[in-house]
Amino acid sequence: MKSMAAFNGREIPKEDKVFAASGKALDAVSKYGPAEVINATVGALYDDEGKLIVLKSVEEVMKSLPPEKYAAYAPIAGTPGFKKAILKAALGNYEPKSFTCVVGTPGGTGAIRNAIANYSCPGDKILTHSWHWAPYKSIAAEMYRGIEHFEMFDEEGRFNIADFEYKVKKLTRNQEHLVIIINTPANNPTGYALTMDDWYGVKRVLDEVPLEKKVALVLDVAYIDFAGEPDEVRKFYGVVDNLRANILPIIAYSASKTFTFYGARCAAMICLAHSPEVAEEFGKVNSFSARATWSNSSRAPQEVIEQIYADEELLAKVEAERAEARNMLLARGRAFEKAAADCGLEIVPFSAGFFVTVPCADPDGLCEKLNEKNVFLIPFDNGVRVSIASSSEDKCRRLPGMIKEAMAALEESAE
Ligand code: PLP
Repeated sequence: MKSMAAFNGREIPKEDKVFAASGKALDAVSKYGPAEVINATVGALYDDEGKLIVLKSVEEVMKSLPPEKYAAYAPIAGTPGFKKAILKAALGNYEPKSFTCVVGTPGGTGAIRNAIANYSCPGDKILTHSWHWAPYKSIAAEMYRGIEHFEMFDEEGRFNIADFEYKVKKLTRNQEHLVIIINTPANNPTGYALTMDDWYGVKRVLDEVPLEKKVALVLDVAYIDFAGEPDEVRKFYGVVDNLRANILPIIAYSASKTFTFYGARCAAMICLAHSPEVAEEFGKVNSFSARATWSNSSRAPQEVIEQIYADEELLAKVEAERAEARNMLLARGRAFEKAAADCGLEIVPFSAGFFVTVPCADPDGLCEKLNEKNVFLIPFDNGVRVSIASSSEDKCRRLPGMIKEAMAALEESAE
């Protein structure tokens, strides 16, 4: 007997591409030392010396928790104090016009999982953009749904509203429910942020969806607090808040990046519902799903976030520390962009965030070629993803030239 598992139509790869590439990078670091290796595989923020950045103020609160604050079960949808605090964190100074309801989840992953579970049916297609975080597909497959994508950019490099419209119309013709996932700002893997005009385009398309069809618009804002000025990056909420009754915006807000809490598994899903009934139902169905999968989320990070938002001085400290880390990341992005422009390396439209993507015909081949120089990136379908979050500004300045050189060597060897 070689297999006991019921695969149920899921395509389960031998290994996860991200973890395989990052494993290779770590082997190289232990062999040659960190200065000789560029490990641009990781989706977490590292300082210029290669150390994981953990906000000191957050760490202090975490370490001060008494046992009952981390050992006790949290309520299924999260502690009341956490729900209030995370709503404030997600919305910032934006005042919602619609009815909100918060359900805590273990990471943004849990929020996406629950949105798919409760607002689509088995066999449905979930719509997202062509450049997207790979787990969307596995999360959908795990629940017997598929992924359909629209081309994220048109030929001029603008957000492709025409293809978005075509796919929304196509899917709503065949399905009663449609979940749409849009990951912005600081999209993974491109770093793109939808502009206000892009959002007006999205709204126009959604306004035309027949009223008998139900659409959940998942706003995956996992990187929002590293994308730019907090009020500026939240402006788009005003366009999607208070849409027609058949459209339900759901914010998937993760504490993983915002509070440097990756392993603490903390996040929330927040609806912007048209009616109190839909908001209440949101709490009910997503709590049911939580109970049936992970039961309740981890209590400790919820307590930490509640304490931060209950203390103005502490909140100011957290925000100042985060702003410093964000400025470091934004500087890395600008350094990469400039070096790419200087050496003529094409990149996918980028605004800010943890990653930059370089389009190419043979992503696996390019990654292998770069491995020879101790540079480690993640291959996607049509390009390679560079984590500027885990590479110093100096490395961000050097990387475009190295990628350009490896591309040329690869082309030469193919001739
Ligand atoms: N969405 C995107 C685009 C991501 O890149 C990630 C994490 O890398 C997540 C959501 C969810 O992260 P977590 O479950 O750690 O909060």
